[in-house]
Amino acid sequence: MKALDELSFDNRFARLGDAFSTEVLPDPIANPRLVVASRAALALLDLDPAVTEEPVFAEIFAGHKLWSEAEPRAMVYSGHQFGAYNPRLGDGRGLLLGEVVNDAGEHWDLHLKGAGQTPYSRMGDGRAVLRSSIREFLASEYLYALGIPSSRALCVTASDTPVWREQKENAAMLLRMAPSHVRFGHFEYFYYTQQHDKLKELGDFVLANSFPACLEQPQPYAAFFREVVERNAELIAYWQAYGFCHGVMNTDNMSILGITFDYGPYAFLDDFDAKHICNHSDDSGRYSFNNQVPIAHWNLAALGQALTPFVEVDELREALGLFLPLYQAHYLDLMRRRLGLTTAEEGDLELVQRLLQVMQSGAVDYSLFFRRLGEQAPEQALATVREDFVDLADFDAWAAEYLARTAREGGNQDERRARMHAVNPLYVLRNYLAQEAIAAAEQGDYSVVRQLHEVLSKPFEEQPGVEHLTRRPPDWGRHLEISCSS
Ligand code: AMP
Ligand code: MG
Repeated sequence: MKALDELSFDNRFARLGDAFSTEVLPDPIANPRLVVASRAALALLDLDPAVTEEPVFAEIFAGHKLWSEAEPRAMVYSGHQFGAYNPRLGDGRGLLLGEVVNDAGEHWDLHLKGAGQTPYSRMGDGRAVLRSSIREFLASEYLYALGIPSSRALCVTASDTPVWREQKENAAMLLRMAPSHVRFGHFEYFYYTQQHDKLKELGDFVLANSFPACLEQPQPYAAFFREVVERNAELIAYWQAYGFCHGVMNTDNMSILGITFDYGPYAFLDDFDAKHICNHSDDSGRYSFNNQVPIAHWNLAALGQALTPFVEVDELREALGLFLPLYQAHYLDLMRRRLGLTTAEEGDLELVQRLLQVMQSGAVDYSLFFRRLGEQAPEQALATVREDFVDLADFDAWAAEYLARTAREGGNQDERRARMHAVNPLYVLRNYLAQEAIAAAEQGDYSVVRQLHEVLSKPFEEQPGVEHLTRRPPDWGRHLEISCSS
């Protein structure tokens, strides 16, 4: 276990130099308080959890103090936002403080979000508000706990520094961690500015540091693109299987690692709705729940375009062609598990699709449905969940099929329950729960967000005294409008 001043840094991205990022010091926020920290994320840095109790902890993660080995820099990138190319984005309100190497030899980028203005801030103030910082913190650690690839979050610090959004709010900072902060948009930036030597330098950097196995392949860049396609197929399968809506799948918010990245107005579905749009600013529904699959494919095509100087178009096309079949295979695998099925049968995909159709017409809570389905033996469980469906004839037809399917599985109920509960969370990061935690934190009470984070870190495990966190949303919490202004 390390103290804060015992971290070792190896700032590889900073060494790429000024064409890739700009040196900027964090601009501190006033009177910092630690809102919440993740023990699991601290462990990735080998940090002793007791470090969070030292006043210097909040000072570092509010921009007041810095390790001497840190080299804070704002990265430059561009990207397609809502389908249109924006030639210059970059870290407008976040800084890569440096790369920590842990005892296991892993590199973890420390990125301080909300660290003040940079050359890429455009009209923005360089700040993040408490609300969005808490939302990103909770989601990062929750998706990880669910087993969904994600960037991580170390902590959130609150402050008295005012910022103006639709109204006055207070600035906060989030410390985000990931093995790399390179986005699709990094490649697009050097491609569209025709700096192909820099594009090559970036590619070589990413291959050496994040995709070393691709260097063994006859065509490393083609292998790299294929791998990014594969990772994204798996990632999106997780999102669809677990009802996660990202909300802003711009190419600058897509990680090269295939992890969930740059959380904004995301939502976990409460009632199942394939057309759900979680981003209040997404008028056309480009990033609606079901569109996440074709949009990921679109984004991968945009990345492929940026790799055309190094890979034949036919090869890129071939790799892109893998996306949909791979996605479908992963998705079906995850959904079989959620339904308690251990074998594969022809017709399983149709079974899943028909379930979603029946859910769509009712007011069925997507997450709790699966949890309750595993709670009792199939026949009793179906009778229990039936109450939430509206179109009972359709539900009964589906239930009969599912019952026959589970009968062919065999096995005993105790095993089935344990198996299903291990993949179907009891606790879900619902927008209304995040909202309650935020409202308390805005009043200076951090106990709600800390408890929520704690419970969500073991989402499959029933925990005493927190029955209220398993509830479906109250009326006010059903249709919260979450905007991009964060
Ligand atoms: P996001 O919607 O958070 O993914 O941000 C899109 C782009 O806008 C990125 O380049 C951000 O750095 C930048 N940005 C967002 N909010 C701010 C802000 N308050 N100040 C400066 N830049 C911002
Ligand atoms: Mg972003």
